[in-house]
Parts: sequence; structure tokens; C-alpha cells
Amino acid sequence: MSTINHHRLIILGSGPAGLTAAIYTGRANLQPLLIHGPLPGGQLTTTTEVENFPGFPEGIMGPDLMTAMEKQAVRFGTTVVVDTVTSADLSKRPFLLKTGSSELTCDALIISTGATSKLIGLAEEKELMGYGVSTCATCDGAFFRNKIITVVGGGDSACEEANFLSRFGSKVYLIHRRDQLRASKIMAERALNNPKVEVIWNSEVTKIVGTKQGGVTALRLRDTVNGTERDFPADAIFVAIGHVPNTALFKGQLPLDENGYIVPQPNSTKTKIAGVFACGDVQDHVYRQAVTAAGSGCMAAIDCERWLEAQHLG
Ligand code: NAP
Repeated sequence: MSTINHHRLIILGSGPAGLTAAIYTGRANLQPLLIHGPLPGGQLTTTTEVENFPGFPEGIMGPDLMTAMEKQAVRFGTTVVVDTVTSADLSKRPFLLKTGSSELTCDALIISTGATSKLIGLAEEKELMGYGVSTCATCDGAFFRNKIITVVGGGDSACEEANFLSRFGSKVYLIHRRDQLRASKIMAERALNNPKVEVIWNSEVTKIVGTKQGGVTALRLRDTVNGTERDFPADAIFVAIGHVPNTALFKGQLPLDENGYIVPQPNSTKTKIAGVFACGDVQDHVYRQAVTAAGSGCMAAIDCERWLEAQHLG
């Protein structure tokens, strides 16, 4: 039988939320164990330059920022392991987590498993991510000043991103697979009334043309009504077809909203289960920024420290 290792605190996820929670709880001498998810460093490792994280006037590469945060967490006593948690039993304390190879228990758990942007499913999306392909207008829009920008999707995210990107692009094309937007009326109208935004209806992207050196140069579009294909010149493609919060492990155990995001208690990172805290994109579909995730990671750390202390476990 495998031994069960017990930890006072386990943090799940290694994006800005999890790593900030680790820095704070590490400095509080809680010696957290942080388990990297399947994408170590989180979504920021799929971007190139981050220009909006305070403190880096020249910008910083996303992976470098995450490596620096991890170093800082380790400096204060965080143990980082790379493993995939396959089940979490939060029904009794200590909480029990199972990975492919081990079983772990903990008094407190901070969930910072993030959210994953949905992708269309083209090989070039991954290949050129950060080189003309992006899933975050706030992060990458400013790199495409006076360029031709495309946005894929027809929901609120796509309309919001198209409007935002119209500040930068010479023109923004919203590419939607149907002849009607899914977005709420107000968001749709804002996009439709924006003189810089033009909708390309009934169209699917079947190929992204470009290289890492030269960036994106064109998209291949398929007309979903008559099946014809054409090449469409573009410098950037923002995929805005939704996000999936990484909450499968907690379904049926924690309250989730209709889109699957964890719902913490108001003005807090505490969840319905005492000793379980949530921070970062796994509980935020509104702001979704590295700095807001880091801020909520700090909040989770403070909530967790206080809770452990009240339980005489701190
Ligand atoms: P969404 O409402 O699920 O819309 C996704 C859009 O992407 C749909 O138009 C869908 O097309 C399209 N799509 C999905 N898969 C695709 C694929 N493989 N290829 C091409 N197109 C694809 O997602 P969302 O826009 O991210 O919104 C999610 C939730 O967050 C919603 O409740 C929304 O109201 C909310 N939200 C609110 C705000 C705000 O209020 N400021 C901003 C963003 C999001 P079909 O229409 O054909 O299905």
C-alpha cells in the first residue's frame, strides 16, 4: 500500500494566483506544497511579452515572469511538484487528493487551477500562439497597432475583444460561423456600430498562414453556407470562443456557476467548504488578468492563514 503524505496546505495550480498564494503562505511559514497543473506556469506561459504587469516598465516575457514567481515561492519554503491530481475528496478533513502515483492529504486547500481558453482546433493555433495568434486582447492587442486584426467568435467575449482591439487595429474583422451573433444585444450592438469593426458572417477559419519569424499573414476562411474557401490577409487572430474553468475535480463538491466557475463566498476566497479556498481565473470570468489573479492569490493566502490559525493548525 502506498504511503499517504500529509501537508498543512496544498495549492493546486501554478499560475499567478497559485504562485502568489505560495509566496504569501510560504512567508507565513506554512511550507505549502504546490502542484503544477498540466500547463506549468498557467496561461501566461503561452503568451510572449507581458506589458501590463506592474513593475516591468520594459515588459517581461510571460514564461520569465512565471519562472521568477516560482523562484520567489521556492525561496520562502514552497515545495513544487509536477503531477496531475486525478481526484479530490473534500467531504472530510483532512482532504484527500490522488495523483497517478500517490495519495496526499492536507488540512487546507487553495484551488488555483485556472481556466483554459477554448481553441478552434487547428495545429497552427498552438504553433503560432504568441506570434500573431492570441486568446487575450488585453494582453496582446497593443502589439498590433495599425494592423489588420481578426477575432473569431460570436459571443460577448468576441464582441468585447473586437471593440477593445479597434483601439489598435487599422481594421478589426469579427469572424463568426453563423449569420447571427450569440452575444447579448448591448454587446452585439456595440460591435456592429463600431465603424472599425466589420463582421464576416458564416465563416470558419480552416487554416492560419504564418511563421514564428514573420507572424500571421493570412487566414483561410471557409464559407459555412456554400463551402467555398478563400485566403484572407490578416496580421493577427484573436480566438474568443469561450473559456472552460478547470473545475472538473470539484463538480458536485463545491458550488459552481452555470459556466462551471467556482463561486466563493462574497468578498472572500472562502468556498462553501471550510478550509478550501479558490483564487484566480477558476473563480473569475470577468477580469481574468495576471495581476487580478495574483491579487486574489494573496487574498486566498491570507484567508487560509487565518483559518488555519483559528483551527490551531497554523
Ligand atoms: P459563448 O457565449 O459560449 O460564445 C462562444 C462563441 O464562440 C459563440 O458565438 C460560438 O458560436 C463561437 N464558437 C464556439 N466554438 C467555436 C468554434 N470551434 N469555432 C468557431 N466559433 C466557435 O462564450 P463567451 O463569449 O466567452 O461568453 C461566455 C460567458 O461569459 C457568457 O455568459 C457571456 O455572457 C459572459 N461574458 C460576459 C461579458 C460581459 O458581460 N462583459 C464578456 C465576456 C463574456 P455559436 O454562436 O455558433 O455557438
